[in-house]
Amino acid sequence: MRNSGFRYTGFRYSGFKVIKEALTGHKGWKPVWRTPEPKKEYDIIIIGGGGHGLATAHYLASRYNITNVAVLEKGWIGGGNVGRNTTIIRSNYLHPENQPFYELSMKLWEGLEQDLNYNAMVSQRGVLNLSHSDSQNDAYVRRGNSMIMSGADAQLLDQEGVRELYPFLDFDNARFPIKGGLLQKRGGTVRHDAVAWGYARGADSRGVDIIQNCEVTGFLIKDGKCTGVKTNKGDIGAKKVASCVAGSSSRVMSQAGMNLPIESHVLQAFVSEGLKPIIDGVITFGAGHFYISQSDKGGLVFGGDLDMYNSYAQRGNLPVVEDVCEIGMAILPAIGRAKLLRNWGGVMDMSMDGSPFIDRTHIKGLYFNGGWCYGGFKATPASGFCYAHLLATDTPHEVAKGFRLDRFQTGNVIDENGRGAQPNTH
Ligand SMILES: Cc1cc2nc3c(=O)[nH]c(=O)nc-3n(C[C@H](O)[C@H](O)[C@H](O)COP(=O)(O)OP(=O)(O)OC[C@H]3O[C@@H](n4cnc5c(N)ncnc54)[C@H](O)[C@@H]3O)c2cc1C
Repeated sequence: MRNSGFRYTGFRYSGFKVIKEALTGHKGWKPVWRTPEPKKEYDIIIIGGGGHGLATAHYLASRYNITNVAVLEKGWIGGGNVGRNTTIIRSNYLHPENQPFYELSMKLWEGLEQDLNYNAMVSQRGVLNLSHSDSQNDAYVRRGNSMIMSGADAQLLDQEGVRELYPFLDFDNARFPIKGGLLQKRGGTVRHDAVAWGYARGADSRGVDIIQNCEVTGFLIKDGKCTGVKTNKGDIGAKKVASCVAGSSSRVMSQAGMNLPIESHVLQAFVSEGLKPIIDGVITFGAGHFYISQSDKGGLVFGGDLDMYNSYAQRGNLPVVEDVCEIGMAILPAIGRAKLLRNWGGVMDMSMDGSPFIDRTHIKGLYFNGGWCYGGFKATPASGFCYAHLLATDTPHEVAKGFRLDRFQTGNVIDENGRGAQPNTH
């Protein structure tokens, strides 16, 4: 998988270049992508310059040699969820429709920096899911086995194993005692906006037009076929149109008359003041919703539950701030002494069963990618890879063939957490 299909597009970043620029006043760096005006028509238009849209463009160009492509972004690239998440990557799923897909993503993360010649700070620092009961341990055994069967790594830890890694956790909390955990050492974090910039550079250098401040306001549909989009920069024709707008999915696809099995919710993220290194991996709480890591600058980066109401706002409410901090203190009492520096929100495209869609729609030439819920950052490479495959070949990629829009009609739901048709609980 590593670097497959890589095409050399000019080695602009290297140790030598960094030293040369440092000695010559940093005057030689060039913009990382162009600012083109839209053409009249493209082979493929991708709506949404988030991680998934840009990754799709990169893989279309680099793996399928399809370069007459535009990415239309209503704001600036990286301004959506790709630049707002808590940066965690992992492939620790249970269901056969999900796990191979996320493991493909993990393999693509492992080769991403070489593929893009861009430092995305991929850090495989380990993701540990804590368990708090014997039955949860049993569930982790099952999940770990599913991971191993897909070629991923998984390690079951007992309490001592967890204590060796993180002695400062509250192991004996009467309500949530820590019994052990499921560790994926290859999981970790990636610098999120570098992912957007790296994919943008990869796509642009192969001829893809990335057009910012270009909002899609409607579709050109004739006789059941999509022939382009309406935008604030005028109509743009295309042989294929690929929506990839995450939290705006329902709004954008309603312009094509589609009603999606998706709700939009706010999710917040939090960063503390910079502290000395204390947490060298990612820890997630198993008795509630809380996940934490420490950034390279020292801030504790953490998050928890959704705000639990439908919204398109990129900010959340104070009761959830309190709730998330409280949950954090249940496993990590020391966090109570750190000062919260900033928090923000993103709009989550929560699907009814918690799993995504990468599919054609009933309108010829119109494709849909969305429903990523909380977990779409880690999916970015595989989502782009599989969406590019679908757009180029008109057949679903082997590891994404369960992500169909009609799965609620056919009964093939992929309810990873077994929580039923309640999007805000996935
Ligand atoms: C607080 C928070 C924490 C998270 N933590 C994690 C995590 O740790 N790990 C993980 O795996 N996932 C996480 N996620 C989820 C992840 O960030 C998303 O699932 C993923 O980024 C969504 O895909 P994207 O990058 O393409 O979305 P986005 O970056 O949102 O891209 C969609 C783009 O579409 C554009 N757009 C919308 N409408 C239009 C239009 N009409 N015309 C043109 N452009 C349009 C938007 O401006 C946006 O730039 C988190 C999300 C949030 C908000």
